[in-house]
Amino acid sequence: SKYKEGMEKTRKSFSSRINDLIARYRKVDEDFFEELEEVLISADVGVMTVMDLIEELKFEVQRRNIKDSMEVKDVISEKLVEIYYGDDDEQIETLQLQEKELTVILVVGVNGVGKTTSIGKLAHQLKQEGKNVMLAAGDTFRAGAIEQLEVWGERAEVEVIKQNAGSDPAAVIFDAIKAAKSRQADVLLCDTAGRLQNKVNLMNELAKVKRVIEREVPGAPHEVLLVLDATTGQNALNQAKTFSEATDVTGIVLTKLDGTAKGGIVLAIRNELNIPVKFVGLGEKAEDLQKFDANAFVYGLFA
Ligand code: GDP
Repeated sequence: SKYKEGMEKTRKSFSSRINDLIARYRKVDEDFFEELEEVLISADVGVMTVMDLIEELKFEVQRRNIKDSMEVKDVISEKLVEIYYGDDDEQIETLQLQEKELTVILVVGVNGVGKTTSIGKLAHQLKQEGKNVMLAAGDTFRAGAIEQLEVWGERAEVEVIKQNAGSDPAAVIFDAIKAAKSRQADVLLCDTAGRLQNKVNLMNELAKVKRVIEREVPGAPHEVLLVLDATTGQNALNQAKTFSEATDVTGIVLTKLDGTAKGGIVLAIRNELNIPVKFVGLGEKAEDLQKFDANAFVYGLFA
């Protein structure tokens, strides 16, 4: 499947290292856990998450009186899934689409993470599901962003609402909402600028865009999706922290998982920030955006 292919790098590196560890140790002891800790950290699972996991593993190994390292493998995957979901049932893993009214989705993230591409892929998929989709070219700052969104719009056969480069993003979003209402669109996907050079400006701009959406569509934005690049590892975690301080992020789109052997970042994001990963990017084509499935992800690591 696309999923398995896209995760190839992570899977190969992770499973071979775990298998090697198990073959070398046989017996589960303190050294085994120490090396396991290293393997997980090098897969970008995140230090805090790894600490939690190791603690739980030790507890579980003692409780079940496990001596053989082979048996630990199953416990590791079990605990990884548990850690991902945590004890919070409130998390909504799927996209929150309104039944009858317009759904407004705000998409945020720093330049280069794959924001425009992910919006294009999402538009394509929603359109294929029979939704009437429109795009708002709210990244008026990055050179080429509007044109790039238009290319995706043509490909997916969805309308793009835009203004000239450099214009006020909040004005673009305002126009787009008006257009979406008059065309009775189901979903409006809003692109935003992502220059991190000026964090305060970026966050103020986002707040302004969000206020316009809130004012024009009661209950919106229905989703604020933060796009993060998996290949940037712990940097992605820091970006997530910054954005979630500024706005209520409802889900993560984690791109370029196909380009890294460190897919463990998915677990760190969920465990340390408590934001669900809703989609993962596994390539550059429209169909390479997949709904995230923690079970499939974790068991895939050991396949
Ligand atoms: P933006 O600045 O955040 O809007 O980033 P873009 O959408 O322009 O994407 C930056 C680059 O990353 C482009 O070359 C995309 O084709 C590429 N890209 C985006 N998502 C993925 C992904 O999931 N996998 C791979 N391999 N490349 C991706």
